[in-house]
Amino acid sequence: MKEIVLEARRNLARANRILYLKGIVDGFGHVSCRHPEIAGHYLISCNRAPNLVKEADIVELDEESNPVGGDTRRLYLERFIHGEIYRTRPDVQAVVHSHSAAMITIAATDVSVKPMFHMAGFLTRTAKFDIREATGRETDMLIRDHDLGRHLADTLGPASAVLMVGHGSTMVGTSLEEAIYRAVYAEVNAGMQLGAMRVSDRVRYLSETESDLATETNRGQLKRCWDLWCEEVDIDA
Ligand SMILES: [Zn+2]
Repeated sequence: MKEIVLEARRNLARANRILYLKGIVDGFGHVSCRHPEIAGHYLISCNRAPNLVKEADIVELDEESNPVGGDTRRLYLERFIHGEIYRTRPDVQAVVHSHSAAMITIAATDVSVKPMFHMAGFLTRTAKFDIREATGRETDMLIRDHDLGRHLADTLGPASAVLMVGHGSTMVGTSLEEAIYRAVYAEVNAGMQLGAMRVSDRVRYLSETESDLATETNRGQLKRCWDLWCEEVDIDA
């Protein structure tokens, strides 16, 4: 296997541990990255709790979210979230799906998630997906096939995040570092927003322009967080 692929697999194992360390995932939730050499393919762990994921657990899935090379390991049921987003968003290099609590709490209300501070400016464009409305029926809430994945990817559109009512959220990034950063700060922001909304119904959020300017600045700072978090989860991948 080429070094560039090995490096992607190592970083993906680290990303899994980081998301657990930061409380974004528990036994559930998953993160993927686009294959560094085959644009239609992506890398994701086999069906394991994120904090247990090692480099050897990473599988390569094709455009249809099927395993490459006859890999028979059990896969995540909701891998179609990742596959359909990679199909519709060529700019996306990494995807995080989680069930983090504050994001779900806001999704259950008629209030939109909004950026409270400069670290979360990317939330100014956030979509909201209600599986009941999308399908016109009641389901187990999971994105368990291509059709549901496509519905979710269509709802995400050009946004950086999609809230999933009664379920969780999915964040995308133009790099693995950015997707992890967004997943962490979206949950921090959602907790702050819920706190502010308890105190006042006149909360001052970032404007779209402030959000865009902050997002641009932070894009150059991602490595600082990534390096710190990698150090914290230092593993023998
Ligand atoms: Zn889920």
